[in-house]
Parts: sequence; C-alpha cells; structure tokens
Amino acid sequence: MSADHASVVPSVTPPLWLLAELTYRCPLQCSYCSNPIDFHRYHQELDTQAWCDVLRQGRGLGAAQLGFSGGEPLIRKDLEVLVEEARSLGFYTNLITSGVGLDVKRVNALSAAGLDHIQISLQAADPDLASALAGSKKAHANKLAMARAVKDAGYPMVLNVVIHRQNIDQIGDIIALCDQLGADEVELANCQYYGWAFLNRRQLMPTRDQLKRAEDETRRWRERLQARGRDMTLHFVVPDYYEKQPKPCMGGWGSIFMTVAPDGAVLPCHSARELPMSFPTVNDLTLHDIWYQSDAFNRFRGTAWMPQRCQQCDQHSVDFAGCRCQAYLLTGDMTDTDPVCEFSPHHAALESMVEDAQVIRVLESGAIPRNVHMARQQTSTKDSE
Ligand code: SF4
Ligand code: SF4
Repeated sequence: MSADHASVVPSVTPPLWLLAELTYRCPLQCSYCSNPIDFHRYHQELDTQAWCDVLRQGRGLGAAQLGFSGGEPLIRKDLEVLVEEARSLGFYTNLITSGVGLDVKRVNALSAAGLDHIQISLQAADPDLASALAGSKKAHANKLAMARAVKDAGYPMVLNVVIHRQNIDQIGDIIALCDQLGADEVELANCQYYGWAFLNRRQLMPTRDQLKRAEDETRRWRERLQARGRDMTLHFVVPDYYEKQPKPCMGGWGSIFMTVAPDGAVLPCHSARELPMSFPTVNDLTLHDIWYQSDAFNRFRGTAWMPQRCQQCDQHSVDFAGCRCQAYLLTGDMTDTDPVCEFSPHHAALESMVEDAQVIRVLESGAIPRNVHMARQQTSTKDSE
C-alpha cells in the first residue's frame, strides 16, 4: 500500500458486455454451480418479446458482446429466435452451455440463426466421475458428441472445465480428452466460491499440492502440444482463495458488464443478487436508466465508497478493492475490502480456511447437488436462521 490516493469520481462509459441469463432451469446438478442458492424462486422468466426488447436496449446502450447463459439456455425453445434477433442487431453472440439439450439439428439451427461462438462445459475425463458430478448418467457422452458436432458445424471447439478437489487430480486425463476431441481452446477454471459453490467450498477447495501438481501438469501439456505443433490453447485459472491480491472483479462494478437475470433483474455481475441490496428490473426501468442512474449500478463505482485502506492504496484502480460478493460472503459487509487481499483484516480467516483445506479427508457431508429440492431445503434453513 502507498499513501494518499485521491478519491476517483467515476466517469461512466457504456457497457461492452451483456450477459443474458435466459433461465435458471438446468437438467444437471453441479455442486460448483454459481447460480444463486435460491434460484428456484425466480421461475417467472422474461418471455421472447421481453428478451428481444432487452437485446435492442442493450445494443442501443453500446454493448457489442452478448453471452447467452443460464442455468441451461438450451432449455429455452426460443433460443434460435433470440440469436437471430441479436445477430440482426449486430451483437457478437456466444452460447455458454452444458451441451445437454443440443443435437446436430439444433447446432445447425443455431448456426443458421447466426450464432458466432459456442462454449461447452465438461465435468471430468472419467465418465463415472463426470456422471456423479453432473448428476446425470447420459450427459457426458452427449457433451462429447456435441463438442464434435459443434466443430463439424465450423465453430472452433471451446471447452470449459470447472476444476475442483474432486477432478483436479485428473487434469492430465482431462487435457488428453480435450486433445483427442480436437479442441481449439480449453479453459481449466478453478472453481470460484459464489452462489451454490459457496455452500460446497469445503468439499470443492483443492489442496496447495493438488493445485501445484495441476499447474505443473498443465505446463507439461503446453510444452507437449507445442512440440507436436498442435494449436490448442490451455487457460489455467487459479482459485481466488490462493491469491494475495483480489481480481478486478468484472473489470470494476458497473464498468463494462451488465447481466440480465431470468426474471429481468439487472445486475452488475451474475452473483450480485446475493448482496443485501435491491436491483431494478427491466419491467420497471430502461437499461439506459439502470446503467447510468440506478443506485444499484452507481453504489460501487469510483473509490469514494471504499474502505480507507483501499482508498489510500495505489492498487485501487487495478483491482477496485476486489469482489463485492466475496467481501459480503466472507465478512458480512459488502463495502469491506475483499478478504483475498493480504491487507484485509479478514485475510487471516481466509488463510485459515485455506489451511483447513490442506488435509484430504472424507468430509462428514458430501457436496450438495444443485437441484430444486436442495434449494428449497437450503433457503428454508436460511430463512429460519
Ligand atoms: S454449473 Fe451445472 S448445474 Fe449450474 S447451470 Fe451450469 S450445468 Fe447447470
Ligand atoms: S484490495 Fe484494497 S488494500 Fe488490497 S491491494 Fe486492492 S486496493 Fe489495495
């Protein structure tokens, strides 16, 4: 930290990214899901016309990149209509999917509608582990078939694997599988503990040794791929809890990113609805007014809201004091410094959580699968606290 950095008054520029979370419904039950714990409460989804209006407003605001995600966006029968609308508006469109609900006919229909990019997630290399993690026996084979179908349709094959304690030791097999499939780009994203994943952080957090072995294995694979002249990019994302400086979450609150949730709530990031504040919806206000004028989007812009230690630190325009959701989940105060920061008074508590993860043991309870039944159970426990 260095002394006295004057408060920065935010100058608000248009969003670049719009994330359309079309639904929280999903046929899979991943324990690392980042959807809110009470996702079952948001079953009133925007209809096709409302989504088209959101897309028009988002593009009018200046957003150029559009992600369709969920839940599982393929559950929406109108996905092709929305892709076509987005394309006609000039968005670059990206579908973020588990691949479940996709078949060759639908890949071709999405391609004909103008979809630019598809990212499919895998759970593991071993089919039994993949089935256990997804809570589905059929999903793994379908994902592999769809990864191939996407490539056959002329898209680059972009695969995403959430890495955690239960699959991290298979990372070499996972990369080998991606290689066999003909992937062009693989994101090995260590789990971040938001939403449903936060419930399961003890079961999901890898040990330091596991993490080091996985990074070493990824590096060896990069060298092997390069020696073979094989063009497959491997991205390895380290878990936040092992860092000493927080990430610049979403490029800064209300800075470049806007999420519209299934029910029309507009959020600065897809995890933000866990915070104790209210977010406007597209039923009440225009995206323009929400972006420029709402308290929700202005609350954490600039530096005036930051704790003193961050205001006086020369890193505040680099990391924006970290993630508001992480600060709230770990300290109970959404205006606090992200405890990932080594200068946070809560960093020692985070470190002891990390130390607790260093012993591989059978935990008294397994990871909680993400499904409506468990969501009801979790929220009724929380409501009665
Ligand atoms: S992480 Fe798993 S459960 Fe959550 S939306 Fe994605 S596929 Fe569905
Ligand atoms: S979180 Fe705050 S104190 Fe920590 S490095 Fe960032 S600005 Fe500095």
